[in-house]
Amino acid sequence: MSLTLPQLRAAVRAHLEEAYPGEGVGAVWRGPLGVRYTPLANVAKAPRRGFAVDVGAWVAAQKAAARAGERLVALVHSHPDGEAALSAEDVAGFVVDGEETYPGVFLLVAAIEKGAWRALSAYAYERDRKEFRRFKGGLAVIFM
Ligand SMILES: [Zn+2]
Repeated sequence: MSLTLPQLRAAVRAHLEEAYPGEGVGAVWRGPLGVRYTPLANVAKAPRRGFAVDVGAWVAAQKAAARAGERLVALVHSHPDGEAALSAEDVAGFVVDGEETYPGVFLLVAAIEKGAWRALSAYAYERDRKEFRRFKGGLAVIFM
């Protein structure tokens, strides 16, 4: 099922609020049938302070997307009682030797305050400047 922007926002919000007080993590795909969201389990040892995705689950999600002709357009995660902004740890995890680990993929960071959605910021990496740039519009960047 293809999601509209309000449906995507509702799906991401529900998942990230449910993940509270842990960090939630998910993936947004886009393909011939439209936009789809995959909630992923956070298997980090300290899920309130970071996220990790089970490798098997991540590979399975990518294979399903490839079969459907979809590409990864965004990775979403939340900061419980934190800021809707990339942390230094996020930047360190998504850029290695000046190269993105997921080229061309938006990074979306949501702030979940006391279990409730507060804000979301969208970032894309600018290779020439070697830094992430924040985009206005939040989840709307998926549909641009
Ligand atoms: Zn983060």
